Amino acid sequence: MFSCVVVGGSGFLGQALVQRLAVNKNKWERIVVFDIKNVTQSRGTGAVVFQQGDIRRQDDLVAAFKDASVVFHCATAAPSAENAKNKEIMYTVNVEGTRNVIEACKICHVRSLIYVSSASVVFRGQDLEGVDESIQIPKRHVDFYTETKAIAERAVLDANSSQLHTCCLRPSGIFGERDPLFVPTLISNARKGKMKYYIGDGTNRMDWTFVDNVAYALELAADGLQQSSQRIGGQVYFITNDDARPF
Ligand code: NAD
Repeated sequence: MFSCVVVGGSGFLGQALVQRLAVNKNKWERIVVFDIKNVTQSRGTGAVVFQQGDIRRQDDLVAAFKDASVVFHCATAAPSAENAKNKEIMYTVNVEGTRNVIEACKICHVRSLIYVSSASVVFRGQDLEGVDESIQIPKRHVDFYTETKAIAERAVLDANSSQLHTCCLRPSGIFGERDPLFVPTLISNARKGKMKYYIGDGTNRMDWTFVDNVAYALELAADGLQQSSQRIGGQVYFITNDDARPF
């Protein structure tokens, strides 16, 4: 039996992951939801325990990581229009917060850390189809959120060692139950009459992954790091619903 912490466990992906892990009662003795906000206003049920904290404060993380063998890092300053203008919040949460997560893992002797990065870290504004993880990260990014995700991803991969095994997952767009951003924004724009345009010639495609599939990928990454840390440690993986094959 193991204990884990889901950093950002009150978020869209975090909640789907906690729900998935909680089903596996024989594996997870304790699942700590660490987040700045408590969506259920509860202390948790069964193996799930809620611990309020801020990833910008290392002491909060150290208190939550005590006895954990796996940490899933799904917290982010949301790339909302409001936050996009606030570079400080993006940097302190996404970059410094991730460095705090890494340090807290080392202090608490956590064995595995899985970070949710983003497929956008390889995007320069050009068409991308059929690419794999060998694609280089560009020097310049499309926005500051993406830049912070790329810096945080590098820090997590560099932290991989024989004591702390790390890897990063890169989903593109995520959809599904409790989506706070994509579908609500579409609906709000449609209501304001702002959906009467299309980009390019109308054949552009975008990669989307169902939220439960990303949660499943996180669970597989934790198993992989535990069983085969030499193969998976220090690696990064795009996460999609299907092979990103060109037609
Ligand atoms: P979300 O905004 O729903 O969840 C993020 C969680 O982090 C929230 O519960 C929030 O309260 C928490 N958080 C924010 N600041 C914090 C702080 N200072 N301390 C503690 N907790 C804090 O985001 P999501 O959609 O669930 O995204 C999860 C991860 O997946 C993120 O790393 C994100 O960059 C990545 N991602 C998301 C998408 C997408 O389409 N949603 C796509 C690619 C990558």
